[in-house]
Amino acid sequence: MQCSCGGATDRGKVRNGRLKADLEYQVCQACGRVSDAALYIQGRWVSSDLPGDAIARRWFNELTEESADQLLTVVTSLQDVFEEDDSPREPEQAELF
Ligand SMILES: [Zn+2]
Repeated sequence: MQCSCGGATDRGKVRNGRLKADLEYQVCQACGRVSDAALYIQGRWVSSDLPGDAIARRWFNELTEESADQLLTVVTSLQDVFEEDDSPREPEQAELF
């Protein structure tokens, strides 16, 4: 990837072993800017930085045992819903014709 300053980026990773949380990010070799962080709890993706909002980094820095649990629960149930949504459905429209 390329930083907005034009420098090349390296992948970086920090780990909170106690909460089993990982933050993966890109760090610029030239200016040190960190971007595109993604937060994983117990190996499961829970959050990514948004443009103008370093939400994954904020979650990682503020993470407690309780909020890590909550995040994981919420994300797990959301992902389960999305997975169900992806399953092929019978085309209901076809029955009208
Ligand atoms: Zn840079």
